[in-house]
Amino acid sequence: MSVLKSASTRIQNAMTIDVEDYFQVSAFDKHITRDEWSSYQPRVENSTRRLLDLFAEANVSATFFVLGWVAERFPVLMRDIFAQGHEIASHGPMHERVSSLTPEEFKRGVSATKQRLEDITGAEVIGYRAPSFSIGPEQTWAWDILAETGHRYSSSIYPGQLDHYGFPGAPRTAFRVQGCNLLEIPVSTLDVFKQRLPIGGGGYFRLLPYGAFSAGIRRLNRGDGMPAMFYLHPWEIDPGQPRVSGLSRKTHFRHYLNLHRTEPRLRRLLAEFSWARVIDVYDIDAQPAVSKWNANCIPSATG
Ligand SMILES: [Zn+2]
Repeated sequence: MSVLKSASTRIQNAMTIDVEDYFQVSAFDKHITRDEWSSYQPRVENSTRRLLDLFAEANVSATFFVLGWVAERFPVLMRDIFAQGHEIASHGPMHERVSSLTPEEFKRGVSATKQRLEDITGAEVIGYRAPSFSIGPEQTWAWDILAETGHRYSSSIYPGQLDHYGFPGAPRTAFRVQGCNLLEIPVSTLDVFKQRLPIGGGGYFRLLPYGAFSAGIRRLNRGDGMPAMFYLHPWEIDPGQPRVSGLSRKTHFRHYLNLHRTEPRLRRLLAEFSWARVIDVYDIDAQPAVSKWNANCIPSATG
């Protein structure tokens, strides 16, 4: 049995948005503390509404992984996202990397965020994405907690190694985590000449020429028979955002690169491929297990 729902020849891809403001990204952690967040003028509502307009024009439904901090401040936006047929999922409360939390802190945070989102929209929340794809080999306990707290899928790993995150050795395809009832859907990668390349979105969507990126998605769909798990942030279509000072050259480059090009590129991407919510693309509860990959999520077995 496949985990993919699409019966047509054209593969449906998962369009996902990580709803956080420009000053909340992990790369700014050293420059802006969480206590300082409230002193910034939020821009997330406007840029998220802009995304909603683009999705409406393209007739695309998407999954929004919302930060608890944002949901708390913009409940009307949450209800509007949901009312327009999109899926609301969780991005945790305060954008802490899973690796920086104890299992108890993680559990408190994901439970509270799920509950809050459900109170706001009145709909069950079953999806979660870890900030910065921060479930790695040392954080497999997090899957167990996600299942225990009523989440049914997670999209929280990069199945390879990038400079500050990754889960080397994990499958590229969606897999059911053995030992708990949870589907993990890794962000998209491509294997080219024995190299695993990121093709999931975010900074790489802004860095690569559009043609190269879309060729990657085509290869995923046609060559590998896999849907793309694509992600973007509202701030990535907001070239007018205030510049944060004191950043390293690398961080500055990564954050501000091609912001003005993202919206036109996204329009092309929406038109060129078929996109849907995570819950439309994947059969979340498909049984039996979709992968033999043995990621043991039982805390006693992983320490
Ligand atoms: Zn994030």
